[in-house]
This record gives sequence, C-alpha cells and structure tokens, in this order.
Amino acid sequence: MADGISSFWGPVTSTIECCEKNYAYSSYIAEFHNTMSNIPTILLALIGLVNALRQRFEKRFSILHVSNMILAIGSMLYHATLQRVQQQSDETPMVWEMLLYIYILYSPDWHYRSTMPTFLFLYGAVFAVVHSMVRFGIGFKVHYVILCLLCIPRMYKYYIHTQDASAKWLAKFYVATLAIGSLCWFCDRVFCKQLSSWPINPQGHALWHVFMGFNCYFANTFLMFCRAQQCKWNPKVVYFMGILPYVKIEKPKTQ
Ligand SMILES: [Zn+2]
Repeated sequence: MADGISSFWGPVTSTIECCEKNYAYSSYIAEFHNTMSNIPTILLALIGLVNALRQRFEKRFSILHVSNMILAIGSMLYHATLQRVQQQSDETPMVWEMLLYIYILYSPDWHYRSTMPTFLFLYGAVFAVVHSMVRFGIGFKVHYVILCLLCIPRMYKYYIHTQDASAKWLAKFYVATLAIGSLCWFCDRVFCKQLSSWPINPQGHALWHVFMGFNCYFANTFLMFCRAQQCKWNPKVVYFMGILPYVKIEKPKTQ
C-alpha cells in the first residue's frame, strides 16, 4: 500500500505486502495493526509455556511454546520493517515450527529414536541456510503447505482416538480458528481495493494473526492432552479464568 508518513526502515524490500497502509501511525512501524496483532500469540504461548513447565510436561512442549513466541516476534519484526531479512526471520521459524509438530506427532510411533530428531534438525538447519540465500517465492508456500499436510493424518488419528469431549472441542476450535483466520487472510489479499474504500479497513491480515495465535494455542493444548493420555498422566481439560482451556495432569507417584 502507498506510504503514509516517512519511514525509519527505508524502502520496502520484502516480497509480500499486506492491505494495511504503511507508516500510517509511526515512522518506526510500517504496518501498525499487523505488528500489534502478534501480541495475543505471545501471551497465549506464554500461558502455554508456564503450564507446560509448572506441570513438568516433556521438554518438546516448552520448545513448542517458545517457538510460537519466536514466530510471533519474527512476524512483528517483519511487519514493523517490511525488510527482506525480517521476512526471513518470519518465514524460517514457520518451517522450524512445522518440523517440531511433525516430531511431536510422529515420534511416539517411531522405532529409531534418534534418527528422526537428527534428520529434522539437519533439515531445519539446511533450510535456514538455503532460505537466507535464495528467494523461494511461491516455492516457500508450496513447501510449507506440504509440511502442514504431513501433520493432518496423524492429527486426525489422535482426534478419532480421543474419547474426552472437552479435548475433542480443542480440536474443533483448532479447525474453526484455522478456517476463519484463512478466510480473513484471503479477503485481505484478494479484496484489498474494496476493503480500503470502507470507512474502516477490517485489517484481515491482523485478524489472521489473532486467529492463528489461538489456533496454535489450541493445537498445542490438544497435543499436550494426547501426549498426557499416552503417558497415562490422567489429563483433564480445565479452564483458566473460566474461559481459556488448558490441560491439567496427575502424574502417578512412581514416575
Ligand atoms: Zn503476517
């Protein structure tokens, strides 16, 4: 979108631009709403992290919540500056996070315990290096979608094997937030011209950030529930301040 007031970060060098007007509120923040809308993701990930640490869930879940935070901070940097380097700091953690999801989803079925994490780690490292040198454009999106698709069959298997109604609701909220968030993202991309002529731009991309923050939170909470069930930690979905679901576990005394 056309520039508003002067920009601290210089001309836009990133390849993707959203519908939001650049530097409309501050010369330090290129896209104000798209930057600020990452804050709920950071707070939700922080709640998830505290819950994982306090109840001594496996380290993978703490790493998962921290990676959500890194992702949101990367996204903030990118939308605040619209620079190519920051675009990479947004995109590379997206891939790392999907690799982490693949590990969490598939590692319980895996026989060779150390090969999978080693492979995924090397894959993530090589990707980061190559991505820092090459602009993938559409290739990045295709690669990312393939990684997402790899997660779906195992996620669905967990869903159909879960008896607990509240845990099943976590999975339903996960799908709903993904669907609504994607719709917001799509409208922002496709109908930008029309939306910009409205008295108030609904900021579809910022809404996508908010919905995806909840989406990650629901995904992680559902996976924590499934893992706790596998480990026989007697998980229950309880609600923080009566609204926000999280997993409460009771580890047997012998563990
Ligand atoms: Zn974004």
